[in-house]
Amino acid sequence: MIYDYFVIGQGIAGSVLARLLGLQGRSLMVFESPAPNTSSTIAAGLMNPITGKRMTLTWKAAEMFPEAKKFYQNAEQDYGVEFYYPLPVYRVFSSVGEQNDWMAKWHEDRYQPFIGANALETLRSDRYINPHDAMRVDGGGRLQVSTFIDAVKSHLVEQGAWLERHINLNDLRVEEGAYAYEGIKAKKVVFCTGYDPLNWSFLPFTPMKGEVLQVKSDRLDRDKITVGGCFVGPINDDKFYAGATYNWRIIDTKTTSEGREEILTRLSKFICDKPEIVEHKAGIRPAVKDRRPLLGEHPEYRNVFLFSGLGSKGVSMAPYLAQHLIQHIEKDEPLLSEVDLKRYL
Ligand SMILES: Cc1cc2nc3c(=O)[nH]c(=O)nc-3n(C[C@H](O)[C@H](O)[C@H](O)COP(=O)(O)OP(=O)(O)OC[C@H]3O[C@@H](n4cnc5c(N)ncnc54)[C@H](O)[C@@H]3O)c2cc1C
Repeated sequence: MIYDYFVIGQGIAGSVLARLLGLQGRSLMVFESPAPNTSSTIAAGLMNPITGKRMTLTWKAAEMFPEAKKFYQNAEQDYGVEFYYPLPVYRVFSSVGEQNDWMAKWHEDRYQPFIGANALETLRSDRYINPHDAMRVDGGGRLQVSTFIDAVKSHLVEQGAWLERHINLNDLRVEEGAYAYEGIKAKKVVFCTGYDPLNWSFLPFTPMKGEVLQVKSDRLDRDKITVGGCFVGPINDDKFYAGATYNWRIIDTKTTSEGREEILTRLSKFICDKPEIVEHKAGIRPAVKDRRPLLGEHPEYRNVFLFSGLGSKGVSMAPYLAQHLIQHIEKDEPLLSEVDLKRYL
C-alpha cells in the first residue's frame, strides 16, 4: 500500500493536519519522536484575537478564530473528550493612555466581531487591580493542548496510523515515485516538526524561548482569561496558567529564576493575590523572522512540504492554515504570499 501522506511531527500543527487529512478521506501515517517540553505540550493554549500593547487585531482573525472554534468543537464531539473552552479575555489597562487608545479604536468595524457591548468593563477590585478599567474580547478561549494532542494520537494509534520514529529528510528514499521509510511508502510528506534547524535550515527560523507557570489561587475569576503585562487563564479548580516570557537570546528548555520572577512581577501589577506556583516549564516557539508561518514545498524535493512557523499563536492559526495548505497541495491553490516559504528562496 502507498499512503497518501506521511505527517512528520505531532505537535499542534501535525495533530490538526492529520485530523483534517483523515476527515477528507486521505490515508496517512504519522511519525512522532516524543520529546520533553515541546512547544505544544507546554503551551497555555490561549486564543486571543486582540493582542499586544497596541491592542492589534490578530492577522486574519475574522477567518482564523471562527475556523478554530468549529474545528476544536467538532474534534471534541468526535473523540468524546473535552479540551476546548471558549472564554472571554479581559485586557486590563495599565494607564489612562491605554484606555484612551482603546476608546479611539473600539468602534472600528473590524473589531466588532470580537468585542462586547461596552467599551470599558470593571473587574472586581478585591481580585484585580484595574483603576483604569478593562476591555472585553470575545471569540477566543483556551485549548488544553496536550489533551487535544493525546486524543488525536489515540485515534491515530487505533487506526494503525501512528509510529514513534524520528525522521529526517535524508532517511526517506524514493521508490516507485513515492517516499519510503522502513518499507512504508507515501506519495507526499509534510514536516510539522516545529523549530527544525536540520531539514529546513535555509529558512530564517528565529526560535523564541518561553517560560510559563501553573499557579494556584482562589482569588482569580475562573470564567475569564485576564491579560495585563502577561496573561492568567483558568485550567481547572483553583489552577491557572500564567505567563509567558519571550527570549530570543538563550534557546534551551531550562526554567530560570529570572523567568519566574518576571511573570510574578507582571502578575503583581494587575492581580491582588500572590498565587502559589505549582509548575514551571520552558519551551521553544517555532517563530520566524517576519513573524509569519512557513508553509509550502521544499525547493529541492517534490511533494515534501513544511507546515511550521506558528510562533506564539499555533492554537488559533493551525486549523485555518492546515486547511489552506491542503488546498494548495491537493488543488494547486496558491498559498497566501505572507505564509508561502518561497518568500525566503
Ligand atoms: C511558554 C509557551 C507558551 C505558549 N502559549 C501559547 C498559547 O497560549 N497559545 C498559543 O496559541 N500558542 C502558545 N505557544 C506557542 C505554541 O506552543 C506553538 O505555536 C505551537 O505549539 C507550535 O506547534 P508545532 O506543532 O508547530 O511545533 P511543536 O510543538 O514543536 O511540535 C513539533 C513536534 O514534532 C516532533 N518532531 C520534531 N522533529 C521531529 C522529527 N525529525 N521526527 C519526528 N518528530 C519530530 C516534536 O517532538 C514535536 O512533538 C506557547 C509556547 C510557549 C513556549
